[in-house]
Amino acid sequence: MNDSIYRPALPRNEVALGYAPGSPERAALEAELGTVLASRIEIPCLIGGRSVWTGRKRPIIRPDERGTELGSYHAAGPAEAKTAIEAALAAKQEWEALPWEERAAVFRRAAELVSGSRRARIVAATMLGQCKTVGQAEIDSACEVADFFRFGAAAMAEAYADQPADAPAEWNRTSYRPLEGFVYAVSPFNFTALGANLAAAPALMGNVVLWKPASTSVLSNWVLMQIYEEAGLPPGVINFLPGSGKEISEVVLAHPLFAGLHFTGSTAVFRGLWKGIGEGLERYRSYPRIVGETGGKGFVFLHPSADLEAARVAIIRGAYEYQGQKCSAASRLYVPKSTARAFLDGLAEEVRALPMGKVTDFRNFLGAVIDETAFEAIMARIEAVRPGGRFLAGGRGDSSEGFFIEPTLLVCAEPRCAAMSEEIFGPVLSVYIYDEGDIASALRLVDTTSPYALTGAVFARDRRDIATSLLALRHSAGNLYVNDKPTGAVVGRQPFGGMRASGTNDKAGTAGNLLRWASACVVKENFDPPLAWRHPSMGED
Ligand code: NAD
Repeated sequence: MNDSIYRPALPRNEVALGYAPGSPERAALEAELGTVLASRIEIPCLIGGRSVWTGRKRPIIRPDERGTELGSYHAAGPAEAKTAIEAALAAKQEWEALPWEERAAVFRRAAELVSGSRRARIVAATMLGQCKTVGQAEIDSACEVADFFRFGAAAMAEAYADQPADAPAEWNRTSYRPLEGFVYAVSPFNFTALGANLAAAPALMGNVVLWKPASTSVLSNWVLMQIYEEAGLPPGVINFLPGSGKEISEVVLAHPLFAGLHFTGSTAVFRGLWKGIGEGLERYRSYPRIVGETGGKGFVFLHPSADLEAARVAIIRGAYEYQGQKCSAASRLYVPKSTARAFLDGLAEEVRALPMGKVTDFRNFLGAVIDETAFEAIMARIEAVRPGGRFLAGGRGDSSEGFFIEPTLLVCAEPRCAAMSEEIFGPVLSVYIYDEGDIASALRLVDTTSPYALTGAVFARDRRDIATSLLALRHSAGNLYVNDKPTGAVVGRQPFGGMRASGTNDKAGTAGNLLRWASACVVKENFDPPLAWRHPSMGED
């Protein structure tokens, strides 16, 4: 049927549940946590709607209890990547021929499942597999996933409604075709919602997708795959390929019908993939679309006029929630000299008291970092700082039971040192104390210290300070916050993405992002074509 113009209801953001003791959601979640712990799940690849058991089993380890295997997954390799490309291309014609509102309906149904009957399951999987506290798992895997699906459906309608002007006797129409070929979605471990959006956004727009999740988020990402199936996504539209990114990417990037990369992860991996695409340019039927959101070095800048109480809370939440494993995390802090001592002493005392432990103990604020590799990498960075850095809190790690690193607060004497400029991706906040006699220089320092430009926050009461900072830091972040923490962007309200080494800034969840997965075709129709070819200017004098 193509005889209606549908307008999806304006979405509202999914409201986070509280999980207070005694609440029904708490009871449902606790039951589900028990089920996950008891079930030792075995997860296959999913290719063309079929489970593929490759036999290359990899354990799914609980980060806060490293001795506990939650289950295992079957790793895909080059052969499965090839089969998945064939399955995706086989599904393509039918999927892209479905009216867009049918595609929207699949993801709107998925939103209801994830925020309704499957909520406890996906929150439990995110808590245990990715080591998130309940609050962090809820805002990610229930709320943000549902938001991406609902806002995505609405944004698709908005994108399609963008049509060119007409003229008398002329009709101009744009159709937003899916890309020719297939899209490759590669997702990071740290947000279940990113796995959801990276694969779903191109699929919404009628593309077929190979989805390679991070090896440390397979548990929750598999729940998403099951939700897609339950919501009616046809087989082969999204193919699930956990496994080595390098091996799978080699097959994907070598295929002439590789049409786009939707990536979120580290800058180094993204650059490697981009180079691989560059080398393959002559092979491809079209120029592949490349969308990537990568690393960050979120800053918090305190003006002398800042409300320090508000700043303290924002810094604690921005730097240490989810163990600092957010691209948007507060990672460097600039404090004016006059208030530094008292403010940092108070902050350090609070940081030292933050409760850390297993995420199944709901009283904890921090859990463990994701795996041994991350633990070693973060600890190596902390050790590198130790000789010159002044540690006000933390600085130690213990991986005997789980991969725990203390929330760390350190003061750097050198404003451009590695701890102030490089991404650490752990619970580490580096501080530089600046001279408030020259705020312009301090803001220049913020702008030029790090190669990243993802998030930043400015705290000030004086309106002139806010205005000066917004101007000075215009290119320093894709998402700037005033008197708020630099984390926690909400779909539809703070479209997210950064520039410079932080990514292509295509703002997840927006019509702009969706349009990267479409190739516009403009049809001009003339209802009254001219019947003479001479121009008036050609007449005789
Ligand atoms: P990562 O780069 O290690 O992995 C991301 C994905 O790439 C995973 O699926 C991984 O398996 C795959 N991969 C790894 N090596 C590969 C290779 N050689 N070829 C192809 N694929 C490969 O990142 P991560 O540790 O999962 O996530 C943390 C990083 O992601 C941080 O740098 C963080 O800042 C960034 N991140 C950015 C955003 C954003 O919106 N800007 C959001 C979340 C995370």
